[in-house]
Amino acid sequence: LWSQVLERLQLELSRPTFETWIKTASAERLENNCLVIRTPNPFARNWLQKYYINTIAHVVQDILGHPVEIYITVIKGDESHLSTQDVTELPASNSIAQSVNTNKQKATELNSKYIFSRFVVGANNRMAHAASLAVAESPGREFNPLFLCGGVGLGKTHLMQAIGHYRCEICPDCKIFYVSTEQFTNDLITAIRKDSMQSFREHYRAADVLLVDDIQFLEGKEYTQEEFFHTFNTLHEAGKQVVIASDRPPNHIPSLQERLCSRFSMGLIADIQPPDLETRMAILQKKSEYENIRLPKDVIEYIASNYTSNIRELEGALIRALAYISIWGLPMTLGNIAPVLEPSSEKVAATPEAILKVVADTFDVSVEDLKSNSRRREISWARQIGMYLMRQHTALSLPRIGEEFGGKDHTTVIYSCDKITQLRESDRTLAQTLRQLSDRINMTSRSQ
Ligand code: ADP
Ligand code: MG
Repeated sequence: LWSQVLERLQLELSRPTFETWIKTASAERLENNCLVIRTPNPFARNWLQKYYINTIAHVVQDILGHPVEIYITVIKGDESHLSTQDVTELPASNSIAQSVNTNKQKATELNSKYIFSRFVVGANNRMAHAASLAVAESPGREFNPLFLCGGVGLGKTHLMQAIGHYRCEICPDCKIFYVSTEQFTNDLITAIRKDSMQSFREHYRAADVLLVDDIQFLEGKEYTQEEFFHTFNTLHEAGKQVVIASDRPPNHIPSLQERLCSRFSMGLIADIQPPDLETRMAILQKKSEYENIRLPKDVIEYIASNYTSNIRELEGALIRALAYISIWGLPMTLGNIAPVLEPSSEKVAATPEAILKVVADTFDVSVEDLKSNSRRREISWARQIGMYLMRQHTALSLPRIGEEFGGKDHTTVIYSCDKITQLRESDRTLAQTLRQLSDRINMTSRSQ
């Protein structure tokens, strides 16, 4: 079966994807409509889990003629078989597997990573964390509702779902509902369309803990506000916990009904600020421990100091770095990961003159040479690299870049950019040269 699957996947996925992520995996066993796939490390598992599980599931279903559940796990040193326990604990699930009982369903609504033990507490989120923990321990008491607010990617959803997980564990029969405001609105619209308001209300009002995410989207939705107001009141009066997350405080949500605003402010409003450097480093540290990857201190520092305002982006940078290292089989050093991490905002600041000068100096040609029509090898090579860098470091259009190089056609610019991009993929020396050039360009631009 697996070789058939591989054959099909090879057709459906790009070659680097296939070589890096699929070829290194193996099928463990197929039992009770459950296929276990093993990967060499946790990182590959997460990658497959995140991006390819549906493709794999479809291919397997096509071959077998019926859906299977797919579990992705890491090869263990002792090669011992998985116990059923292990299998059920894996977070894997896919859209094809549909026979879920309520408990499983609860767990799949919540992201299994969003638990308290994976949340790093810092000065920026101490209060929100403490309040969330208090609510998880004794819901419906002190902080009701708990209103978490803070900018994008700062951990509101994480904390909220951590409350859900915690409650689920302590009280498996509890009804924990996590819902985005969008979902709530959609459910409401469906209920109106299908004339099933009764069951809509019963559903939401049966919650023991209701977690509502991104409530700022209530803005301008009169009818949803109305319905939410009643849901809220019913739950609150029954002593059920409501937790709300928003990217801004209630009184800053435009056109939010006054009575909702005052309900939201009735409990505790806990805000989350952007994390300081230490907290960002601690978050990276913790994440790498979960991935079983040792990060050198300078790498942690570098990433943490370049991604400051959004933890999702901070994590994204780490993931990109890990992917790069793993694709090329490089050791994890700052020099190796820097090329994939340069924040794009830093690049835009460079001027065409600065780029031309850095390239000319590096390749020992003159700026005039770069703008000339000379086809001398060194000159046209430097010119191509210059075009590529200008594309990377400025927001100039292709024809404008052509102009900077003495009036070359935009197709020449495209050709150069494509060529260097391709070569860069396979030529590590070139990649390194480009990185050094980028650094130099950034440095000259910054000091201007
Ligand atoms: P928000 O809902 O505020 O936009 P999320 O809760 O989705 O943000 O968080 C974005 C990402 O950052 C998630 O992957 C989350 O796990 C992570 N994250 C946020 N805050 C922390 C923290 N204090 N410790 C560890 N990870 C965090
Ligand atoms: Mg969120």
